[in-house]
Amino acid sequence: MARLANDAHVVPWTARLHAPSASALYVHLPFCVRKCAYCDFASWETPRGDEAMSRYVDALCSQLKEARDAGLLDACETAYVGGGTPTMLGAADLARLVRTMRDVAPYLRELTCEANPDSLDDEVLRTLAEAGVTRLSIGVQSLQDGELAALGRLHDAQRAEQRVAAAVASGLDVSLDLMCATPLQTDANWADTLRRAIDLGVGHISVYPLQIEEGTPLAVRLGDDDPDWNDPAVQAHRMEMAEELLTAAGLARYEVASYARPGKACRHNQAYWTGLPYLGLGTGASSMLTAEGYEELRRRWGRLPRRPDDAARVRLTISSARTEVAQHGDLASLDADVEFLTESQAAAEDLMLAMRMARGADPALLLHAQHALGTDAVDEAIAWCLERKLASWQGERLAPTHEGWLLGNELYGALWDLADGEPTSAQTTE
Ligand code: SF4
Repeated sequence: MARLANDAHVVPWTARLHAPSASALYVHLPFCVRKCAYCDFASWETPRGDEAMSRYVDALCSQLKEARDAGLLDACETAYVGGGTPTMLGAADLARLVRTMRDVAPYLRELTCEANPDSLDDEVLRTLAEAGVTRLSIGVQSLQDGELAALGRLHDAQRAEQRVAAAVASGLDVSLDLMCATPLQTDANWADTLRRAIDLGVGHISVYPLQIEEGTPLAVRLGDDDPDWNDPAVQAHRMEMAEELLTAAGLARYEVASYARPGKACRHNQAYWTGLPYLGLGTGASSMLTAEGYEELRRRWGRLPRRPDDAARVRLTISSARTEVAQHGDLASLDADVEFLTESQAAAEDLMLAMRMARGADPALLLHAQHALGTDAVDEAIAWCLERKLASWQGERLAPTHEGWLLGNELYGALWDLADGEPTSAQTTE
């Protein structure tokens, strides 16, 4: 690869493949007031004030302390409370959880909490800021009442605008999630939603096309129909509209679905796309650990399967139901699905994830990929992507093109195919 002929300045990528501590921490709260029509996330309808949520937070707090004692949070820099609807837990439980996260991970530079407009009241907002949250990610989805009703959201546009304005006024960093290619959406009202979101003065906006997931009320309602409003061409056009309006307003696209003002990109999500290890706690939460981190965890969680000698990376997803998580406070009693990745699979994964980001793959990653996957194979895959205009060289970086983002599956597939087979699966033992 001529681009990397002089590699003396490149810091080895391998440093991040052996860190025993996670760089990022995710905590999952699987509770919602009502399921949205399109949602297949790990979340369940729960009455407001249900004590099961407090018990679940108790369990998470003790698991967080165990993770700290195992050294898994020594170098953790970002954290994220996701769901579900974290803000429906109320001020007291959220404060307890956030303070515990601050205690067990003392070097956090960013702590994001997801929020929904219907439950982000003034007390919750103030409590989150006081407890140590630095950033809110608010699930707005649309600023059109008809679209919101069709999606089954609990809020209307006025409530969303009020609560986002209050969040911005609180001084926290604020991000909005918006959704395109949804029922009743037109080009005109999508543009209106984008303009009003920009006018709210947030530093970050994420934009996703609606995916119709099997088994959801929306999919059942549609049956075998492929609705025009969700056609791939409509999705691509609305994503292009978002790019045009958001970039013109000063929010740069730094990832396929993410736009930020200078200094406001989400550090936590970037950890996922740059091969940094992360720990996930709560039902359905996923971790990505180095071999060293996994061994530390396994010392306390003896039911985790033995790591094959050639596994350089471990993906782990907690499969215990929310009631089981709440019932047993300790890590050792949780069930998990585990996947072991070889060094070559980890390198292909890192290459693929890097291409979600505007800056693409840097020289350190490309050199590591050549070492782990073979220079000829990597060069051939890159040539294939360049030929199809899915990627281009930006100096020494290989970056996705506009076409590459639109045809993401082709681009990511070509890079993942460099891996030697599929990861090995295993589960916790009885
Ligand atoms: S609020 Fe979010 S997690 Fe809850 S049902 Fe709606 S989309 Fe799903």
